[in-house]
Amino acid sequence: MTMTVGVLALQGDFAEHIRVLSSIGVRSLEVRSVEDLTKADRLILPGGESTVMAKLLFQSGLGQAISDRFSRGELPIYATCAGAILVSREVQDGSVSTLGLLDITTQRNAYGRQSHSFRTALSVRGIQTPVQASFIRAPHITRVGEGVSVLANYDESPVLVQARNIIAGTFHTEVTGDPSVHKLFVV
Ligand code: GLN
Repeated sequence: MTMTVGVLALQGDFAEHIRVLSSIGVRSLEVRSVEDLTKADRLILPGGESTVMAKLLFQSGLGQAISDRFSRGELPIYATCAGAILVSREVQDGSVSTLGLLDITTQRNAYGRQSHSFRTALSVRGIQTPVQASFIRAPHITRVGEGVSVLANYDESPVLVQARNIIAGTFHTEVTGDPSVHKLFVV
């Protein structure tokens, strides 16, 4: 059976993720309810506003459903930016309730006012060519727990990390249209 990648579509840039997935021939599905989630084999948590997404996740029961399937090993996750905040075990200032699926600490809006947003080419472990990455009011990953490996750094800080069944990045490739991290996720 062909794989379907669910993209959490409560808020944020889910449409861009769906565009990248379709550019590499992967079937996708917008996930807004627990019912939608049952049809997804993998899940992308997009960028957006983590406080808003957290509220909607917990209100809809989707947060619990995602945690349950993930902890049973049934739902590989790729989380970007606000998504990375949502999966982190801990948020530095405690401003967001998270799913706590990945043992990292994140700090929101960590790049300061001057450089809310910038683009750069990153070297990523497991990907041959530089990845076109866009940082948009991005968080920092300030702590990486045991069993979490770093796939890419920027300015000596981790920006893409991986543990069993989960990848989290502080940057967006769906807005630059670079499909390489999505390919890494779906192999
Ligand atoms: N600053 C946003 C937050 O804290 C994340 C930004 C993004 O996802 N591009 O939720």
